[in-house]
Amino acid sequence: MNVRCTQCGATIEPRADERLLTCPFCSTALVLDGSMTLFHELIEPTIGAAEATAHLRRFLGGGSTVADLDRKARLDEPRLELFPFWAFTIATGDGERVVLEPAAPSSLHGLQGLEVPAGATRPATGAGPPGGTLIEPEVPAETAREWLSTRFGESVAVRKTVLYHLPLYRTPYHFAGRAYMAAVDATSGKVFTADFPAKAESPFVLVAAVALVVFGIEGLVIGNLFLKALVYLVTAAPLLGLAWLTSRKV
Ligand SMILES: [Zn+2]
Repeated sequence: MNVRCTQCGATIEPRADERLLTCPFCSTALVLDGSMTLFHELIEPTIGAAEATAHLRRFLGGGSTVADLDRKARLDEPRLELFPFWAFTIATGDGERVVLEPAAPSSLHGLQGLEVPAGATRPATGAGPPGGTLIEPEVPAETAREWLSTRFGESVAVRKTVLYHLPLYRTPYHFAGRAYMAAVDATSGKVFTADFPAKAESPFVLVAAVALVVFGIEGLVIGNLFLKALVYLVTAAPLLGLAWLTSRKV
């Protein structure tokens, strides 16, 4: 099956199962999508492995994960991976923006609808940055286009579609005998996770329930308003302490 180069129009004969190719006539990096060729671009990593690890540690130390996870988790060595996205340049009221939809399956959350600054890319050379594992695109552009429509409506105006390879640092980590997967965008430092050891909710619910019961009983038992306020104040102290302890431990 022959295809046409998007850049120079020359006829190219790709090898079987070859998806990423370089035009032999004009050296343009292309991706084969069905019977079409589209431009293939690459984003250079701007942060190093050590910085990526620091971003992940900051995320793990944040409020949504188990307390002190940044110190308790054991992080593996980050591996640079080039993850494929279909990058759609869409027209908006105040100009254009570039929205990414993943071109390969992934367990990481938040990869859909990612936005990147326009013009941050360069044509791919095929080899990619040193040490990076190139993930082949598997999702047709048409499928990604449908996700885009779901997000922005059927009338979304796509000005340009290219294949982007975004550098991500894959950083698996271990906590309490389980392995978790995370990745850090090697250009923005944004952290993507599959699942992570989240704060358990039940201890907080329990503290709130205890507070409700204690205040309820006090309210019923004590008639004098002044006394009631005083007792409320006295009981609030240990309850707040309990809540604080819970947030430290969980
Ligand atoms: Zn060409």
